[in-house]
Amino acid sequence: MIDSNYHTHTMRCKHAVGQEREYIEYAIKNGFKTLGFSDHVPQPFPDGYVSPIRMDMSQLDEYVDTLLALKHEYAGRIDILIGFEVEYYPAYFDKLIKELRRRPETDYIILGQHNVDDELTGAYSGSRTDDPVTLRRYVDNCIDGLKTGLFTYLAHPDLIYFTGDRGLFINEMSRICEYTKAHDIPLELNIQGFELERNYPGEEFFKLAGKYGCRIILGIDAHRPDRVRQPEEVKGLSEFITRCNLKCSQNLDLKSIH
Ligand SMILES: [Zn+2]
Ligand SMILES: [Zn+2]
Repeated sequence: MIDSNYHTHTMRCKHAVGQEREYIEYAIKNGFKTLGFSDHVPQPFPDGYVSPIRMDMSQLDEYVDTLLALKHEYAGRIDILIGFEVEYYPAYFDKLIKELRRRPETDYIILGQHNVDDELTGAYSGSRTDDPVTLRRYVDNCIDGLKTGLFTYLAHPDLIYFTGDRGLFINEMSRICEYTKAHDIPLELNIQGFELERNYPGEEFFKLAGKYGCRIILGIDAHRPDRVRQPEEVKGLSEFITRCNLKCSQNLDLKSIH
């Protein structure tokens, strides 16, 4: 049983459904004390490019204001946190953080590296690839992002769908395990990916993370209100955790971006 989830989306990302209030009501009903919203961050991409998977920069204030009002309304019943799921795209990151810092109410950000290097020019991380350079760049992006010290945890660390040499995969992904273990940064076991039987979370990576003794946090990655429920409801998840020998904890030190 868990009492917190820090990975929750809203309709603004164009691929989630339901009102924020519905997510909150499911969370209360299913025993959560903390619900963190971390919708896909608006990225300061060049003018004229509209990302299909995230809110626009013009919606940032409305997102924060909506969650702020709900935080106050539900105070005493559940803690609502205001966050973002953010990619580390080197060309835009400094500009992005400046935008996010305009709003002191932002509680945290998590790293979810959905594309390699850049959404406009780089591959989607979850597309099959056997290219060692793509794998290496993905791992570099993740570690460089974490090195900024701004990210509270690493979401779906094995989003990269590498189908090439397994020794190479283990070597590269070991760098993520080593870094996060050394800096006590949690790795997310992504429940949505598990339920949808995506390439992540993969047993190969999580057995590695288990061997390293990395700290694991469960993240629902809710794109539907009724997904805010206990992990026991998800068939096979506890067996996966046991097989990979994972140490799971929902205790989280939120890192300030301010
Ligand atoms: Zn999403
Ligand atoms: Zn994600």
